[in-house]
Amino acid sequence: MIIILTKERGAQLKKRIVRMTHQREIILEELRQLKTHPTADELYDIVKKRLPRISLATVYRNLDVLADLGMIQRIEVSGRQKRFDGNPEPHHHIRCLVCGRVADVEMDNPPQINFSSLHTHGFKVLGFRLEFEGVCPECSFTQKDSQPPPENLQ
Ligand SMILES: [Zn+2]
Ligand SMILES: [Zn+2]
Repeated sequence: MIIILTKERGAQLKKRIVRMTHQREIILEELRQLKTHPTADELYDIVKKRLPRISLATVYRNLDVLADLGMIQRIEVSGRQKRFDGNPEPHHHIRCLVCGRVADVEMDNPPQINFSSLHTHGFKVLGFRLEFEGVCPECSFTQKDSQPPPENLQ
């Protein structure tokens, strides 16, 4: 388990009025339907079915805008490809060490951290995220078949 300190989005960004283009609306709509925390590439493959002429660069750009607005979240874990979450509320994640898949973690008793007890080298703490690590059901199933886990972690 890793605790990652994170810069929460500024409140002023949420108040910024931004024109929602048709493309951006569709990207947001598709992302919100997914529980898989897709990468931009994965989301591009899905959005392309509704917007055949959209480019990967446009998907990237719109995801960045939506994340800056606080309407979605970027999940950046350990230098791997960025994933996106249609749920903007703070919550915790678990990541599969084999395939890189990310899922939400629901906690009945979320841990409390006393921020004033932290030594942060001058950083002002605004929030934190918990990232659990494990093996997803698909990968545990594969491993039982005695296949070696794939090397190419996303
Ligand atoms: Zn997995
Ligand atoms: Zn999530």
